[in-house]
Formats: sequence, C-alpha cells, structure tokens
Amino acid sequence: MVHFVGAGSGAPDLITLRGMRLLQQADVVIYAGSLVNPALLEYCKEGTKIHDSARMHLEEVLTVMEEAEAAGRDTVRLHTGDPSIYGAIREQMDILRQKGIAFDICPGVSSMSAAAAALEAEYTLPEVSQTVIISRIAGRTPVPDKEALPKLAGIGATLILFLSAGKTAEVQKELLQGAYREETPCAIVYKASWPQQRVLRGHVGELARMAEENGIRETALIIVGDILGDDYALSKLYDQHFTTGYRKGS
Ligand code: SAH
Repeated sequence: MVHFVGAGSGAPDLITLRGMRLLQQADVVIYAGSLVNPALLEYCKEGTKIHDSARMHLEEVLTVMEEAEAAGRDTVRLHTGDPSIYGAIREQMDILRQKGIAFDICPGVSSMSAAAAALEAEYTLPEVSQTVIISRIAGRTPVPDKEALPKLAGIGATLILFLSAGKTAEVQKELLQGAYREETPCAIVYKASWPQQRVLRGHVGELARMAEENGIRETALIIVGDILGDDYALSKLYDQHFTTGYRKGS
C-alpha cells in the first residue's frame, strides 16, 4: 500500500502521530528532498529504502511504488506541509488507481499554519476578513486567467501566496491593482518552523524591497491583509451577551 503523508512545515515534531507511525513502519520512503526536512527520516526503521523525489520524474516515482507493491512492501510518499496544497498528488493517485494499487492520505500541518503561528496571527478576524485566499503567482505552472492575482487582490481578503517569493516585484505591482494599498500590512515568512525561520513584517508598498534586502527568493510565504494590522471586532462566540449552543448570554 502507498501512504501519502504530509510531513508538516519543517520541524520534525510537527508531523502528525499517524504520519510518524507510518514513517516508522515504512519499507520504502519517497520524500520531496527540496522541501521536506531530512530530520524526519530519522523516524524510519533501519533498512528502509529512501528515495529523494527531487531527482526523480513522475514515472520514476511510480515505478518505485509499483515495485514496492509487487514485493508486498509499504511505501510512504512524504510531501511537504499538507499534500492537498500544491502537492502534485492528484496525478500520482490517478495512476495508482489505474494500476489497482491501494493508497491513503495522511494530512499534515501546512506551511500556512506554521506561518500563522510564527506571525502570532489569526487569518480570519471579525469585521476585517472572514475569507482566506490561497494562491500563487504564475510560474512555469500557469494560473487560470479567472484567478489572475489582480482579480483576487480585488477582494481584499487575507491572501496567502505560495511559490511566489522569487517574484515579489510582480506580486507587489499586481496586489496594488486590486484592493490593497501601499500601506496594507504584509509579511514574508521564510522556512516557517525550521531553525532558520525568519519573519519579516512590512507593507505592500515595500514588499519587493523586503524580500530583496533579506535575500529571500524561495521557501517562503507572502501573507497580505489587514488581519496583520491592529483593528478588529471581538468575536461573537465569546461575547458574554451572546447565547450559543453551550452557554446562555447574560
Ligand atoms: N504542501 C505545502 C506547499 C508546497 S508548495 C504546504 O502545505 O505547505 C511549496 C511552497 O510552499 C514553497 O514555495 C513556499 O512558498 C511554501 N513553503 C513550504 N514550506 C514552507 C515553510 N516551512 N515556510 C514558508 N513557506 C513554505
């Protein structure tokens, strides 16, 4: 069987218990060496065959899975963060289905969650933003026109950009074509939860300069929105006058 496992954002103790147990039992591990912290491989038992997918193409990855399956072995495919976000797991799952190889998925702590923790931020603040947009700037993988960054920026919600830290000048320009202003707060979080973690705070008008001055081009998230500012309303859930299913308001 093949287990797709979310490795978490980097710190080895941010994998789930289930993910750790799957790694401990795995006979074969294919991990995304460009982003997964190799310290996680220390959970593997002795003799586990380990492959770094950074050096492999899709067919090679699937051949390793197929051979392991034929030998009755368990494979863990270890993806960074949560596999559902820019994980490229769909293409692997579809082929496994065609080949009749069973698989399951173990979720992980996305870098967007680790970045919120590093920022001590809440992405959804009452009367500021109740919506989080996850996107990226187009790279070798295009972004559909209907989701072009200036359009998403037009909503003015909390915005989390993956895979975009190498193009901050373009990002800054396109954010300003939407609802964000030069003075809208933004942050860059580099290697969230790794020992090398860095948190940079600033404003949209200086985003490109922040990235450039700090030499950040990859393994970083860009977070934009007024949730990073100081104005918000208190929650209804904990309002003493508000009745909930568990508590009567006064
Ligand atoms: N599935 C992953 C994202 C994979 S796409 C997740 O849920 O986090 C790869 C991109 O994720 C990187 O270009 C970077 O933008 C972001 N990323 C991954 N790990 C990160 C980390 N520890 N800190 C900041 N950004 C990270």
